[in-house]
Amino acid sequence: MSKSQTILILGGGVGGLVTAVELRKKLPQQHRIILVDRERKHLFAPSLLWLMTGLRTAEKISRPLDLLRRKGIKVIHGEIEHIDPQRRQVTVAGEVLTADHLVVSLGAELNHEAIPGLAEAGHSFYSLAGAEGLCDALKKLRSGRIVVLTATPAYKCPAAPYEAAMLLEYDCRKRKIRSAVQVDLYAAEPGPMGVTGPEFSAGVRQMVEAKGIGFHPEHQVTKVDPAARLIHFANGTEASFDLLAYVPPHRAPQVVRQSGLVGENGWVAVDRHTLETHSPQVYAIGDVTGIPLQLGKPLPKAGTFAHSQAIVVAHNIAAAVTGRGELLRFDGHGECFIEAGDGKAGLGRGNFYAEPTPQVKAYKIGRHWHASKVLFEKYWLHNWF
Ligand SMILES: Cc1cc2nc3c(=O)[nH]c(=O)nc-3n(C[C@H](O)[C@H](O)[C@H](O)COP(=O)(O)OP(=O)(O)OC[C@H]3O[C@@H](n4cnc5c(N)ncnc54)[C@H](O)[C@@H]3O)c2cc1C
Repeated sequence: MSKSQTILILGGGVGGLVTAVELRKKLPQQHRIILVDRERKHLFAPSLLWLMTGLRTAEKISRPLDLLRRKGIKVIHGEIEHIDPQRRQVTVAGEVLTADHLVVSLGAELNHEAIPGLAEAGHSFYSLAGAEGLCDALKKLRSGRIVVLTATPAYKCPAAPYEAAMLLEYDCRKRKIRSAVQVDLYAAEPGPMGVTGPEFSAGVRQMVEAKGIGFHPEHQVTKVDPAARLIHFANGTEASFDLLAYVPPHRAPQVVRQSGLVGENGWVAVDRHTLETHSPQVYAIGDVTGIPLQLGKPLPKAGTFAHSQAIVVAHNIAAAVTGRGELLRFDGHGECFIEAGDGKAGLGRGNFYAEPTPQVKAYKIGRHWHASKVLFEKYWLHNWF
């Protein structure tokens, strides 16, 4: 029998959850699997877009991480304060934990404060509290101007602000206030989902504009005046709003920035196929990583990649612990639904590691893709708990 080993997984979001459950399936009980998160519940973030228009509640789109204990996974609730990759030691609420294998899946930190006035003026649908606040404010809105804003050109789930604009527009039509409400999307980036290529990007832009949503690319917000309800942009223009829904700037979580794992691009540098960091037996997956692509942009941050990377890392750790099985490689494939309102969605699917540019196919918008997204939500919250 092999020596008992400890696998420590930091983060109970998409990547951490999948890694823990997959490892538990693969490793005998003598090996300890520990998952650490400051939150008590795992949140299915894609459903925040439905929650913000009142179609979901927090209860419906989250599950207690403690349920994982039934599977034989040790769950620790607490703030991760320090990571020492060389020693594979992690401090959680003052207690030091040592691992044989360490997996960092701590996501991206939302840095609202980077833009003065942003948090006071608007609601970020990228967090549960923000999406709930947006939902309350939306119910009160009867007329005026809704602005969806991306505060930087790169953020997790590049489809989300475009989906948000279309779902907000649909909500106004359902409530029969559309003729009294203007919907605009101000983006820091030149176009939707740039990594997918010009054709795909133009298709998403067309979907948005066909709904009468004003699209204003390359508008980098510099500050927001909450009292005047005015957004100031770097190009000297301004935009007024009655309701502001925004995507905040992202950065690697503080504890990761201080760990020495972060590379020049501000995110954890990993082998693009094995997700190993420069420290032996330390892996990083999901949004916390920065994986450069040949076209000069990074691999987008998305749950689809965190999920596939977690499968690879769990498999390879199990192979290292048991000494059995071929190693797997993450191949850059991913897919993403694009909610369009009216009970319809589209899908983008492809190889993001293809060179010189990612090869991503757009699937025609229809009711079946929306139904597939609803089914995926149900599968996710059932399958992993
Ligand atoms: C509105 C919205 C819609 C989205 N839609 C899609 C979609 O349709 N498809 C798709 O592929 N992706 C989508 N995403 C993106 C997807 O949710 C993320 O890419 C995915 O969650 C990344 O997984 P992760 O494990 O890297 O990080 P996360 O899931 O963010 O998990 C990180 C975890 O680490 C914990 N943590 C961080 N720091 C600490 C600390 N110091 N101490 C303790 N715990 C800590 C956090 O509490 C969190 O639970 C969406 C995201 C949003 C916000």
